[in-house]
This record gives sequence, structure tokens and C-alpha cells, in this order.
Amino acid sequence: MVKAIVGANWGDEGKGKITDLFAESADVVVRFQGGANAGHTIINDYGRFALHTLPSGVFYPNITNIIGNGVALDIHKLISELQSLEESNVPKPHLIVSDRAHVLMPYHILLDSYEEDRLAGKAYGSTKSGIAPFYSDKVSKIGIQVNELYDDALLKERLEKVCELKNALIVHLYHKDPLDPNTLYEEMVLQRELIRPYIGNVSAFLRKALQEGKTVLLEGQLGTMKDPDFGIYPMTTSSNTLAAYGCIGAGIPPRYLKDILAVTKAYSSSVGGGDFVSEIFGEEADELRIRGGDKGEFGATTGRPRRVGWFDAVATRYGAEMQGATEVCLTCLDVLSYLDEIKICTAYEIDGETTKEFPVTHLLKDAKPVYTTLPGWKCDIHGITDINLLPKEALAYVDFIEKEIGVPIKLFSTGPKRHEIIYRTPKIDLI
Ligand code: GDP
Repeated sequence: MVKAIVGANWGDEGKGKITDLFAESADVVVRFQGGANAGHTIINDYGRFALHTLPSGVFYPNITNIIGNGVALDIHKLISELQSLEESNVPKPHLIVSDRAHVLMPYHILLDSYEEDRLAGKAYGSTKSGIAPFYSDKVSKIGIQVNELYDDALLKERLEKVCELKNALIVHLYHKDPLDPNTLYEEMVLQRELIRPYIGNVSAFLRKALQEGKTVLLEGQLGTMKDPDFGIYPMTTSSNTLAAYGCIGAGIPPRYLKDILAVTKAYSSSVGGGDFVSEIFGEEADELRIRGGDKGEFGATTGRPRRVGWFDAVATRYGAEMQGATEVCLTCLDVLSYLDEIKICTAYEIDGETTKEFPVTHLLKDAKPVYTTLPGWKCDIHGITDINLLPKEALAYVDFIEKEIGVPIKLFSTGPKRHEIIYRTPKIDLI
């Protein structure tokens, strides 16, 4: 069976921790979209890791970790992540990279940062990891699949063509030095040797594993609000972040996808631009930002301070529904322990009308949050794993959110470590 673990919000919901937890009883963990532009933080017996490209199953020797065809494959980043695991004494993970994954090329990173510089104040807040140029090329059919790196004639021909096109932009729009196809070819010859041991037919592997009754986790990157179709376009990412895309980005027949766990945080956070209705500012925000996550709300990839706000039930209900969530995990409940009272955004007011429906992007700028205020619990719940030890106000907060979002919150997390988790009874099977 297949279980997808995906974000209901803007990303950084804590999917890495939850995938690492569920991986305990899985056979395969798959990354199916995105690239090294976001990070999953995992804290376990080996230490603290920010994984950008590797699936969160890499800490278990029995798991096959997969980079699906939907991922933007940054070969250097992947190899350096593998090296950093080795330096922390993590046993060498079993990894397969789809032979159909496209390669994130050096010029994707260049073009991403040239374009962000050109847009200056009007930039999208890209992490400059090359993700938007990468996916544009894939759709424009000038991308390079990793299997194509091993056909010299084909690779040279593709690079010639790409350089001709890219250089028109690089020289005339960005006023930078042109790309040289021969230098690029030499670079890619080096990269293809680094990745060679990992390449395989991922879809065939997964179809066989599923026929044999294996359990597969699909690990989403970012969340619904960053989906290019259903999120806050254009302040989105460039690949679909919804569980439905997991089947395409991994190569899995959709009928296997039964279980969709949407992860959401007990408050809101977002990196990058875009309207964020329940955002808070000033000292109130600074305090939440510093107390948030395991080391404050700062980007795992960029270190950028994340924007923070109250729990947004409008965005999360929509986010969970669009994911097709069968269950929800609420993370970072412990973070709110310092508050006397806690606000939850339960509706938006747009042009004098109150709505619980998440609107199209351009209406968000006029949306005002409608809040319900609940009492805080004012005691430290960090690391609690027994539901009976939770203060009643904390449980009431979870119950309230569950009612608002309309999907059962089957587990909630009280700390960043693997087993700092509370299961609602009856305890859900890990798989
Ligand atoms: P992801 O991309 O969805 O995996 O999320 P990130 O790793 O970018 O951000 C989540 C942050 O919250 C990380 O710093 C995690 O270590 C941390 N975290 C996850 N669950 C909890 C929790 O229950 N409590 C606290 N305090 N931190 C958590």
C-alpha cells in the first residue's frame, strides 16, 4: 500500500519528522517532486539533519529510498548530502534514482539567480536553486533526463541546442558571459559518474514492490499553498505539491494510493512572498518565531526568517481537502505553551462578506482574518507522549481545529524528536 505524507499549508509543517517516524515500518520512501529548494529537518539518534534532496527514510538500513522522476535532480547536492550522512556515521542508505528524472543543470541555477536579480524588489522569493528554470525546461522539452547523460552524441547535441537558446537570454537580457557547450559537456561527464551507481528503473521497482505487498511512503515537499495549480500562484513552487501528483512523480498506479496524511502546524509559517491572511508582526511574531520549530522558524535551506501567524483553519481545511487527506497530523503543539490565549483564524472577510472558502490568489490581499480566541494552557507540554497528561486546554485546541478542518487529527507532535508524538486512541497503525 501507499501512504502519502504531504503538507496542508505553505511547507515546513514538519513532514520530515513525520516521514522519519512512519518510515520505521515502511519498506520504501519516495521523493516525487521538487528539488533541493526546501529542507526537511530530522532529529534522531544520529544527530540533526536538514535533508534537501534525500528521502527521509535514509536513516533506516532496511528501507529503499527513491528519487522519483518528478524530482529536480541536483547531482552535486545529492552527493554532498550522502557524504554528510557518512560523516555522521549513518550507515550507507539504499538509494535508487529514477532513470527518468531530469537533471538540474548548472545554467538553471545561474538563470534563477539572474532572474531574481533582474526582478529585484518584485522577485518571487526564489531560493535560487534553479527550480523554476528547471521545470520550465522540462515542460518546454529541452530538459535532460539523467539516462541521456550516458549517450555522448545525444548529450552534446542537446547541450549545443540549449546553449544557443539560453545564451540569447544570458547575453542580451542579463548581460552576462555566454555558456560554453563544451565546458558544460565536461561538467556533465563528471556528474554522470557520481550518480551512475544509483540510477534505476524506479517505476518498475515500485510496481513490483506494490504487487509484493510492500509499503511505500510518498514524501511531499512544501504544501498545498505552494502548488502551482491550487496554491497562491504565482508565489508558488514549480512542481505540484499535491498527493495526487505523487503517482506521476514516482510512477505508481493511482489505485494504490489509499492513505493520505496531511501535516499541519499548530500555528502558521511561510517562507517567500504571497499574501498570508493570519500573519502576525512585531514582537508578537518575533516571540513565536524564536520559539517555533526546533531552533526557531528559520528556513532549513536558506536560514531566512519564516513569516509566522495564527493557525489558519480556512487555508488548512482547503489544504487538507485538496490533498485528499484521510487523516491529519498536527505538529509543534508544544510551541504554543507560553501563550495566555491563542487565536485561530476561522473565516476570511472579503469585501464585507464572510467566507470559509479559500479564495483565488488575487482576493487574498483584501481578506481579513476572523478569529476565535481559545484559552492557552500555560504549562510546558514539550515531549509529552501520553494523551492523559495533556492539559484540557491543549486538547480543546486540537478538538477545535479538527472540527474546523473536517479531517480527523489522528496524531499530534509535542517536540521535534522522532518519538515526541501523541496518538489519538485508537492508536493508528503506522502503516
Ligand atoms: P518539513 O519541510 O515539512 O519537514 O518541515 P521543516 O523541517 O522545514 O520545519 C519543521 C520544523 O519544526 C523543524 O525545525 C522540525 O525539527 C520542527 N518540528 C517538527 N515537529 C515539531 C514539534 O512537534 N515540536 C517542535 N517544537 N518542533 C517540531
